[in-house]
Amino acid sequence: MKTLIKIIRKSIKRNPDAGRTSWHVNTGREAKFTFSGDKLPEWLKDENVFIKSQESNYYDSYVVIHGIIINPDILPELFKDIQEKKYNLNIEIKNNIHEVHTKTPAPEYLYKYKNTKVECKECKSMVPVNEIEEDEIYDMMVQICPKCHKFDTFNFEYERIEDVNL
Ligand SMILES: [Zn+2]
Repeated sequence: MKTLIKIIRKSIKRNPDAGRTSWHVNTGREAKFTFSGDKLPEWLKDENVFIKSQESNYYDSYVVIHGIIINPDILPELFKDIQEKKYNLNIEIKNNIHEVHTKTPAPEYLYKYKNTKVECKECKSMVPVNEIEEDEIYDMMVQICPKCHKFDTFNFEYERIEDVNL
């Protein structure tokens, strides 16, 4: 018999973002740097920075390097060195905000499902639906019983919000 996982009536609320299709997502900070000098500092190596461009002249070893710091752990050390004027360095940190568009508009309602127990037809255990693990095997999503570890041994479906009398 198919178990119906019911929507918790009290959890239903109007989604303040209903209908929205675009979002601003902060994808993290980016720290750009410009180094100029004739002696490359210790931290200027592949695991710490990504070098975008490098300019030098023929007459001496003076270089100007533009890049991005990819290891943020070195930042405190760099700020300290800048304060102590150990070398000529400029750091510009900014938040990277991207606009993301979704194909389907944000739903009108938000809600949660009851953590209902469902029976595994292999081992007969009653397992709370939130404890059923999912995994991808050969491009197929399978549900795994946390007790006997067999695949797709449950028979349930989620109640649809359209079927709830609001
Ligand atoms: Zn089982």
